[in-house]
Amino acid sequence: MNFSSPWKSRYFVKSVAVIRCFLRPLGNLEQKYIDHLTDTQNRRVHRHLAGTRPSAVLLIMPRCVKLSCCRADVQNSLSQCQDCRLCPLGDVARLCARFDIQALVAFRSQIAFELARKLQPDLIIATACHDRLVKALYSVPTYPALLAPLPRMQKKCVNAKVDLGWLEGQLVGLPRRDFTSKFPAPPVDAPISPITPAARAAEGS
Ligand code: SF4
Ligand code: SF4
Repeated sequence: MNFSSPWKSRYFVKSVAVIRCFLRPLGNLEQKYIDHLTDTQNRRVHRHLAGTRPSAVLLIMPRCVKLSCCRADVQNSLSQCQDCRLCPLGDVARLCARFDIQALVAFRSQIAFELARKLQPDLIIATACHDRLVKALYSVPTYPALLAPLPRMQKKCVNAKVDLGWLEGQLVGLPRRDFTSKFPAPPVDAPISPITPAARAAEGS
């Protein structure tokens, strides 16, 4: 996987850890710093994709997005969510079906990293809390991953919301693939969606 990323450098990872420690007591500055890191990562991924067609795209959701009382098996696909509107996974399932993207829920971050190594997708699209986004960046730095923070959740790790506008923007903005020909082709110079305005709004509130 020829994806160039500073996260492959342990010095870079250590410097991020030090900066986070410094910012942690200063209100939401640590989250803003992680927003900046994910913004930069997403621009790097879009540059990496320029002119190419990812043939295997994997969308990974964290367990907190799933309605906590639901027993649907979502660890391999979101097929059971297609007709459901009880939690954001239903909207994610319909969006991914529209763009023919494989989507699933990883119940632990280690499972998501193992999936990435096993399936070797050309592109990963994922959302998670700020801390887990950083963990993803340094744990699987060789895979191009478009990332977004979760905009909000009921309480820690429970009933989180997904920034669907950001997600749709990423799917629409992908370089066109053969099997997406049934959908309107994205404009060639489609703007790169900025990282999660909803997340920023939520943080600012
Ligand atoms: S969309 Fe419906 S079926 Fe799927 S996890 Fe949420 S509540 Fe369960
Ligand atoms: S809040 Fe973070 S740690 Fe908790 S389930 Fe969601 S992504 Fe994982």
